[in-house]
Amino acid sequence: MSENHLPTAELQALDAAHHLHPFTDGDELNTKGARIITRAHGVYLTDSDGIEILDGMAGLWCVNIGYGREEMAEVAARQMRQLSFYNTFFQTSHPPAIHLAAKLAEIVPGDLNHVFFNGSGSDSNDTNLRMVRVYWALKGKPEKSVVISRWNGYHGSTMGAASLGGMKGMHKQGGLPIPGIAHINQPDWWSEGGDMTPEEFGLMRARELEEKILEIGEDKVAAFIAEPVQGAGGVIVPPDSYWPEIRRILDKYGILFIADEVICGFGRTGNWFGSQTFDLRPDIMTIAKGLSSGYLPIGGSMVSDEVARVVNSDEFAHGYTYSAHPVAAAVALENLRIMQDEKIVDTVRSDTGPYLKAKWEALAKHPMVGEAKIVGMMASIALTPDKASRAKFAAKEGTVGLICRERCFANNLVMRHVGDRMIISPPLVISRAEIDLLIERARKALDETYEKVQ
Ligand code: PLP
Repeated sequence: MSENHLPTAELQALDAAHHLHPFTDGDELNTKGARIITRAHGVYLTDSDGIEILDGMAGLWCVNIGYGREEMAEVAARQMRQLSFYNTFFQTSHPPAIHLAAKLAEIVPGDLNHVFFNGSGSDSNDTNLRMVRVYWALKGKPEKSVVISRWNGYHGSTMGAASLGGMKGMHKQGGLPIPGIAHINQPDWWSEGGDMTPEEFGLMRARELEEKILEIGEDKVAAFIAEPVQGAGGVIVPPDSYWPEIRRILDKYGILFIADEVICGFGRTGNWFGSQTFDLRPDIMTIAKGLSSGYLPIGGSMVSDEVARVVNSDEFAHGYTYSAHPVAAAVALENLRIMQDEKIVDTVRSDTGPYLKAKWEALAKHPMVGEAKIVGMMASIALTPDKASRAKFAAKEGTVGLICRERCFANNLVMRHVGDRMIISPPLVISRAEIDLLIERARKALDETYEKVQ
């Protein structure tokens, strides 16, 4: 063993004994042990047995510039030496927060010129939930407090964010959703579109927003929150008819729109933001993950001139110790510098994105693959026993997806499953040769899964 750590089995035993993992079945952890990652570089992870794995998920959709960039480590070390911590409460600030806020105002579209810094995507959405209510209260309409979101959307794990999310399995735990949140159905044509065309279905699902607004009462609705492309829900790309109709409805009723760009932001969809890819024009935007490429935790709520003007007219009694942490802010700024200097978003849009798209869509020819969806560098395939009828497998939903995920691991590829959908979201710096390798391994995993389920 070249690395200086305990043998894998000992690490796994300690881990199972003392470490409670997010979204992990404790029994499985005890019996199979965790896969332990010890280092990473570029698009590759190395595990505790020295095996190199292509990371098709960029960690958790976040390592946009790839792993192990020296510049990031240097900036973090320099900032730690200079100002390791100071807060931004009570009228104080520091250069990393100031420069990052200004840089974000420059790259985020529209007039979202103001940022409230948070520690993650979840607490950014908690900030948003409070902020839209404060906004309407300050405008003399405190009864406008309900936020509408979507089933199978994901907005995080705190009480507020998980309530905004539409993951029913999460709602079952801990008495969620909290009051004041309503859900509408998602635009997932493959699973729920029945005999409608995707365009008809997209319109129908968008119009559920209008129905919900009228049901609750237009004077009680504060905001609508949605991901441009649902990520954790399975990379659900809405039909083309969906977003324009949602935008029409939001404009008609004057409801604030929160675009949750935690995954879609910072190049993932082939533009800097998913809001540009789908022309969403939000009032508030949630950012995290790709903001720092996951090198340090940081999130933010970008808000429009109008929202900032109103919310700033009183003290917003809200904040986290680590809002605009100087080291995280400096690292995020360096991440944005690298993305701009290396033209990473342009490359995804005009070169590697289209290259991946052609190869990904060709997977739909595989006998077990129904639709193949891709926007920029986030993609999914639906596994099915019968493409024509878009049938589900006889086994419990997710069984085949899990087999496929395990076959991916066995072939040294990280690909995630959501039910029986397989998803990828690789580092944005992935090269054409690495895309070839990703597709080759994905195909092998699909063939092996197909053999197993026949
Ligand atoms: N919003 C979206 C769209 C996400 O995908 C996630 C995490 O995956 C979150 C919010 C929550 O972010 P975090 O895990 O940083 O709290």
